[in-house]
Amino acid sequence: MIMRKETDFSEWYNEIVEKANLSDKRYPIKGMNVWTPYGWKIMSNIDRFIRKELDATGHDEVCFPLLIPETEFKKEKDHIKGFDSEVYWVTHAGLNELDVRLVVRPTSETAMYPMFSLWVRSHTDLPLKIYQIVNTFRYETKQTRSFIRVREIHFFESHTCHVTEEDAQRQVEEDFEILSNLMKELCIPYSLLVRTEWDKFPGAYYTVGLDTAMPNGRMLQIGSIHHYRTNFAVPYNITYEDADGEHKHVHQTTYGMSERLVGAMIGVHGDDKGLVLPPAVAPVQTVIIPILSKGNTDAVMKEAERLRDTLANAGLRVKLDDRDERPGSKFFDWELKGVPLRLEIGMRDIENNVVTFARRDDGSKGTISLHDAPDAVRVILGAIRNDMYSKAWDKQKGCAETITSTDNIPDKMLRFGWCGSEECGHRFEDDNDLKMLGTPYIPEEFDGTCIICGKRTDKVAYASRSM
Ligand code: ZN
Repeated sequence: MIMRKETDFSEWYNEIVEKANLSDKRYPIKGMNVWTPYGWKIMSNIDRFIRKELDATGHDEVCFPLLIPETEFKKEKDHIKGFDSEVYWVTHAGLNELDVRLVVRPTSETAMYPMFSLWVRSHTDLPLKIYQIVNTFRYETKQTRSFIRVREIHFFESHTCHVTEEDAQRQVEEDFEILSNLMKELCIPYSLLVRTEWDKFPGAYYTVGLDTAMPNGRMLQIGSIHHYRTNFAVPYNITYEDADGEHKHVHQTTYGMSERLVGAMIGVHGDDKGLVLPPAVAPVQTVIIPILSKGNTDAVMKEAERLRDTLANAGLRVKLDDRDERPGSKFFDWELKGVPLRLEIGMRDIENNVVTFARRDDGSKGTISLHDAPDAVRVILGAIRNDMYSKAWDKQKGCAETITSTDNIPDKMLRFGWCGSEECGHRFEDDNDLKMLGTPYIPEEFDGTCIICGKRTDKVAYASRSM
């Protein structure tokens, strides 16, 4: 295996996706990959956490049709401009050309909002908070990459309607809490950056991008949260009657994330041995490797099976590797698969009433008592989660570098003064082949000059090279 994360992230990433068997890109449509059982289990575990958080905050799950009539799709002018060149069209039904073409959803605003205008009648119907986890489609013309840039995307989207702009703003704040809970489990750090006017979601009032630093210094957008004000409610005529009988437009928000979370997890945590999965999403949280030698095979296997059953009954996702292979080769396989915790059990362990453990994240080893194995395993998995998360945050913070000139720009998350003008923003992007990520959602104190025009400014912006 020639996997070098630090020196060639891109190669390393592709190799690890293939070797750990997370996705099969041999399907005969470019950018539409097959989820393999192992990859799909990881994604399903992420979805489970998303559902838990959304359900706990009063969102209801729905499932909308995949196809959207062109007439609905084109109601919001900025929106269609933003998506025109990257949607798939259905033009025929059987042998007949359709009078109204259908869009294969790239996102579901224009599918949902005609229905919202029917569902929302009174202020007592608000807030309306729904979400769905479905596939969306975008015609990517850039080089595709598993989980990071694909044409069929496993996507989560929540959509809300509120009485006032302030209520919608409170929803955005709730979304940040949901995000924080979720990322703690996935051990993925993130920055909250308000996208520039020219990069915000088409039709949005503002967009907050959620970005995670990849090992090559580039930022990967893992999701976004949007405040729409009434920008969609007006063209889609989503109104409610307030307590005084007056009809008003709702204020809306959305929150979206995708399978890029899997890509981020691979990039943030993996190493040259393979994947390193956070315990919350690992299909196998702990693997038991029996250490057999002549004469004790039956006794060790019996104890290993008992341990497996005990852990499984305690609700842990456990696997006993009883293949006829040498332990060393089993270690290798499960390290590649990113299993957070390995348990080794041999005759000497059994005699001492212990089991030997090895953590995937930092390689540390020790023993736990066989008697209270489930509790001990849970404690270690908790420690793994906390350590993975805090280490990842350290890396994310270390990735940002403040620059004052455009000479010798490092491959990092760049922080710099910006006067706020579109002209300077575009020039900075075009002259340096960079992408502006935006300005911090939580304001940062800054006193400096615009990196392009040199004007004094207290505004700071972030940028990085594209993935
Ligand atoms: Zn400027």
